[in-house]
Amino acid sequence: MDFNGRAVRIVAGQHGNEKGPVRALISRGCDFILGNPEAGERNVRYIDQDLNASYGVDTGTFESKRSQKILDLISPEDVVIDFHTTSAKGPPFAILTDKVMLPLAERTGLAHAVLMTHNIKKGHALINVRDGIAVEISGYDTQESFDTSLSVLDALASRRSSPLTLYEVYGLITEPGVYENFVECEDGFYPVLVGEESYDFIGLKARRIDWLTD
Ligand SMILES: [Zn+2]
Repeated sequence: MDFNGRAVRIVAGQHGNEKGPVRALISRGCDFILGNPEAGERNVRYIDQDLNASYGVDTGTFESKRSQKILDLISPEDVVIDFHTTSAKGPPFAILTDKVMLPLAERTGLAHAVLMTHNIKKGHALINVRDGIAVEISGYDTQESFDTSLSVLDALASRRSSPLTLYEVYGLITEPGVYENFVECEDGFYPVLVGEESYDFIGLKARRIDWLTD
């Protein structure tokens, strides 16, 4: 698979308990990089620290070393599609750290893409150090995340672009309340990742933006 002449590298299982996409990729016989096999074997998120917050920081931990091995496998010329799952309910979405990757996100068939310039991994996620996108799917190891992963793979294989709504994260939700991800709330923002257990926040605040003008 390629994107504008660049090889597309699929990554999944950076968090060991996020098995839906891993099973989907295996079921299709796809070539992909299994992010954290050791954590996957133990069915834990990580061994020492979050692998997807370990890129470009050498801390000597298990995941710090693993992140370097993964970077050795992915050329800066390649583009990455990094599959994740979340305990947050709601539609699947793409994560971008740079708007130039929006055309790649449009190949996923997903309806929503979220630009996280000030990203929750403090700039040390895989897509901070390689061009590409992450995909977030609800359900760690569920039929939903398996099926949604298959839909994304089908969309990528079709090589068609489908328009999506772009959002930009600009802050944290601080007030407890009833929020529905990607449904505009009374305060005028779109909640993202409300219900994700791995982070110590209620959720993220996002606004809709236009790719060309914002
Ligand atoms: Zn993840």
